[in-house]
Amino acid sequence: LRAKYAPIVREDGELEGLVVLLQDVTEHEKLENMRKEFVANVSHELKTPLTTIKSYTETLLEGAMENKELTGQFLTVVESETDRMTRLVQDLLQLSNLDFKQAQWNKMETNVNEIVENAILKLDVSAKNKKQQIDYHTSEEDLTVFADIDKLEQVVLNVLSNAIKYTAEAGKIHIETKNENDVVKIIIHDNGIGIPSKDLPRIFERFYRVDKARTRELGGTGLGLSIAKQIMEAHDGKIELFSGEGITGTKAIITLPAVEKAFASV
Ligand code: ADP
Repeated sequence: LRAKYAPIVREDGELEGLVVLLQDVTEHEKLENMRKEFVANVSHELKTPLTTIKSYTETLLEGAMENKELTGQFLTVVESETDRMTRLVQDLLQLSNLDFKQAQWNKMETNVNEIVENAILKLDVSAKNKKQQIDYHTSEEDLTVFADIDKLEQVVLNVLSNAIKYTAEAGKIHIETKNENDVVKIIIHDNGIGIPSKDLPRIFERFYRVDKARTRELGGTGLGLSIAKQIMEAHDGKIELFSGEGITGTKAIITLPAVEKAFASV
């Protein structure tokens, strides 16, 4: 609480009373702190690759270029750090688009299976590179939802690419789509490293990562799940992650209201 005081003074100069204004600043302060933390995180995430790029190019210019093998190694690092920055900037742009451009979303009736199949197709190569097996099962029910196809595909891509990233070579990823009481579910279950229960509640926060060094190595930005959550909320849906307590690896459940087929029975 923030308090402001103003004295009420009578004409003869005597103090008659005091006006006290108590203002609840907790919510405002919380938002302000979140904003500051976000800016600090972005700056840090951009500065780390920049520092690496700077020091490697400096070393090259100071003479390391004479050594062809070393030059190759250094330029590979420079390239991968540049890629990381590109991914980060892309994710940041996407977050800011989500904040500002909801009115332009292109929602339409669509079958989730088409979206899921497209996402699998796009990530099939990364899974194959790790000799992972993705199996996909869908029920015969109607799985029509009202969604922005690109955005919903982004959610599936973010979750599925995590499943691939955080699962070892030759691991398994099981994908299932179904309709349960007019709720369409996309379930993506991997048998990877899982998420410690102490980290689960914070996993959707921007830049939150279980193991910073490790995810950085794997190319993560720490923004994928927060983007996914924001997109699902804009669809009156949700995304939840489960791990531990009898679950192997990590299980992600994406839910969306099914489109009611008003005349289906006529
Ligand atoms: P990142 O780009 O780092 O993967 P995300 O927001 O997508 O960022 O995920 C946040 C963190 O959640 C990851 O850094 C990782 O620690 C954890 N995580 C997400 N999905 C999985 C998964 N399927 N298995 C294990 N850990 C996961």
